[in-house]
Amino acid sequence: MTRRTEKTCYGAYALNSKTKEIERVLAKITMLCSGGAGQVYGHTTNPIIATGDGIAMAHRAKALVSDMEFVQFHPTALFEPGKSPSFLISEAVRGFGAYIRNKKGERFVLKTDERGELASRDIVSKAIDKELKVTGENHVYLDCTHLEMDSFYQHFPNITDYCKKIGIDVAKDWIPIVPAAHYTCGGINVNMNSETSIMNLYAAGECSRTGLHGANRLASNSLLEALVFAHHAAEDVTAKINSISFHDNIPAWNAEGTTDPEELILITHSRKELQTIMSDYVAIVRSNIRLKRALSRLKIHYEETEELYKTTKISPQLCELRNLITIAYLIVTQSMVRSENKGAFYNVDLG
Ligand SMILES: Cc1cc2nc3c(=O)[nH]c(=O)nc-3n(C[C@H](O)[C@H](O)[C@H](O)COP(=O)(O)OP(=O)(O)OC[C@H]3O[C@@H](n4cnc5c(N)ncnc54)[C@H](O)[C@@H]3O)c2cc1C
Repeated sequence: MTRRTEKTCYGAYALNSKTKEIERVLAKITMLCSGGAGQVYGHTTNPIIATGDGIAMAHRAKALVSDMEFVQFHPTALFEPGKSPSFLISEAVRGFGAYIRNKKGERFVLKTDERGELASRDIVSKAIDKELKVTGENHVYLDCTHLEMDSFYQHFPNITDYCKKIGIDVAKDWIPIVPAAHYTCGGINVNMNSETSIMNLYAAGECSRTGLHGANRLASNSLLEALVFAHHAAEDVTAKINSISFHDNIPAWNAEGTTDPEELILITHSRKELQTIMSDYVAIVRSNIRLKRALSRLKIHYEETEELYKTTKISPQLCELRNLITIAYLIVTQSMVRSENKGAFYNVDLG
């Protein structure tokens, strides 16, 4: 990968959660490993920290970020309104023989693919998405009632117990499910040594884009990727760390003119709106008009949030909102320039 900029990273400004002050953390080498960005959607299996902070920061610093249009959705997250992250019903449950049904009991995935429930994540997710749009329902079901329950429990004790805790007996009840954002295939472009396009800035894990996942990650490859690329980075850095000079002529953070936020509702409401925009317009199935609408609404959120950022004291909530807006912008704009449906990306207007 050729370097796009002559920029160099000298560390980061970090919020000290105890003092609430922003501190300068200077370093010869900095590595971003802040995870994925699934929280940009209403339903996600990703932890609450998956707000794309590293990707958004890198983009603002003008690092190359790509493939953000490839968001992998997991077809079978437990439908529990208001709960984030969504509880994941492992794919292995379908492998074990569970059926996906609509309210009428039909195994509708078979209409899309003869492999039915055993088709790949993107195909099953797309079939569920279509069913939900046609029926106007907000979830479908996973039916395990025909399976041998002793063996099921041995294989899936956590799933069985979790369902029981919320009043679902998997031996008798269908499990309500919905597709949920699961993996950010794109991210900060890195080379084989995990170096980004900014000098002395590395990235590893889900925030990075190594190219290894192509347009659609194969299950379990993410941990492999995180380990291998972090190892490459460690070897590369060890070899050159002594030849890198340390810079401390970096200005302290300037918080002049900012005040404590008066109302957190401005931030929490924007985050909910953002997740709705992304879930309704930029999820499993996209279209040109939905992308255009999403972009025009994102511009409003961007302007409002930048204003807040300039005038109020920095908080994790504000930073995460700002970063999620950047992530949404990257997913939308990179979706707009993609001219071919591939892997986890599907735009109905591309046929
Ligand atoms: C339910 C579920 C099941 C999965 N199953 C598998 C599997 O079987 N096999 C597989 O290979 N992959 C699986 N994945 C994907 C895999 O778990 C993730 O891709 C992987 O954990 C990402 O690792 P990471 O180190 O990049 O990020 P994370 O593990 O998310 O770690 C990111 C860290 O950065 C911190 N952080 C984030 N933002 C900031 C900030 N602004 N400042 C300071 N710290 C910050 C977070 O607190 C966190 O500690 C699964 C994912 C999910 C959600």
